[in-house]
Amino acid sequence: MSERVQTTSVTELDPVCGMTVDTATAEYRSFNDGKAYYFCAAGCKANFDKNPAKFIGAGAKSEGH
Ligand SMILES: [Zn+2]
Repeated sequence: MSERVQTTSVTELDPVCGMTVDTATAEYRSFNDGKAYYFCAAGCKANFDKNPAKFIGAGAKSEGH
């Protein structure tokens, strides 16, 4: 009955595959428009760098112009 949620680490979602990435240990990161994005693997970062708008846009569908 002592189960607690650890809140000491900060996690972000990998915008490419949707995995949770710990920002403290993330080896792969990219900056776009002033925001940092974290990735679980080099392949995810490479995909993001190829076309960042594709992944950023997918997460902000509800924000219309
Ligand atoms: Zn990934």
